[in-house]
Amino acid sequence: MKIKSIFDEKEVVFSLEVFPPRADVPIENIYQTLEELKDIDPDYISVTYGAGGGVHKNRTCELSSIIKEKYKVEALAHLTCINSDQRTLNKILARLKAKNIDNVLALRGDKPVDGDPLGDYNYAYQLVEHIKQQTNFGIAAACYPEGHLETESLDQDIEYLKQKVDYGVDYLISQMFFDNSLFYKFRDKVEEKGINVPIEAGIMPVINKKQVGRIIELSDAYFPDKFQKILDKYEDNPEALRDAGIAYAVEQIVDLISSEVDGIHLYTMNNPYVARRIKEAVGSLITHINGKKVG
Ligand code: FAD
Repeated sequence: MKIKSIFDEKEVVFSLEVFPPRADVPIENIYQTLEELKDIDPDYISVTYGAGGGVHKNRTCELSSIIKEKYKVEALAHLTCINSDQRTLNKILARLKAKNIDNVLALRGDKPVDGDPLGDYNYAYQLVEHIKQQTNFGIAAACYPEGHLETESLDQDIEYLKQKVDYGVDYLISQMFFDNSLFYKFRDKVEEKGINVPIEAGIMPVINKKQVGRIIELSDAYFPDKFQKILDKYEDNPEALRDAGIAYAVEQIVDLISSEVDGIHLYTMNNPYVARRIKEAVGSLITHINGKKVG
């Protein structure tokens, strides 16, 4: 099933993101996590591709297939194009098709830190174009409410986003952010530009100190004072930081749903406990909202 159709049916889509286990550990190590994530009833689960090192790229297809076949949850396979060539990408797309995966998150991937990328692709729109020409996948793409790290300006980034969407993107998933007002400003600008596909808000519950450095490295996201206060106050109290991080994410989600967001994409960091607590807090609200549309 194409994920696009879930957006047609529901007022608010709720999805989760996981990363595959490292190549040197059995794939079964993630089964318990998936079991618990399935129980919180996500609309789909996405699987990252090589994010944070690339050692387990081959597992994206395998894990997406397990999510779909074993756990009966729709899957979205991430795929990056930088440093890749057409032949390799065609092989991956064929493998995904053979495993009955219907949806791909088309990404550029991060540029290598040293030297130029070696491959046929420089930007995600080229991958979108390629997938659209060659296959029949549902296609999602990334967007950045605060602008992508490399961009000159948010307006410029949105110009390129429009180009990417016009090549055949069904819907967008946003980079994590901690200040909803930035997401709303972005959404207004995107709408003004004539981009009218659904946008899922990417929410990262910050539950430990290690994550903070990684977030800055990945996104340079703005930390509002009230969020910074939580980090400062509880940095040496892991359980308090976890609980405050969950509460902060819940507050963000409630505000987003009340502001008619199309969907929530939770970066789970493979932590089903945190995902479950968040779903327990907002699940009934999502059911009420979706009940309204379906009924
Ligand atoms: P693009 O859309 O190509 O944009 C990249 C940059 O190029 C932007 O600055 C943009 O403004 C600029 N640009 C775009 N088009 C043009 C053009 N025509 N001319 C000039 N400049 C242009 N990375 C992974 O490695 N694996 C993952 O699984 C993964 N999952 C992700 C999931 C989400 C939801 C998000 C938000 C990001 C994810 N990433 C992942 C990170 C992503 O690969 C990086 O952010 C990457 O640097 C940009 O990818 P993109 O697809 O947004 O690129």
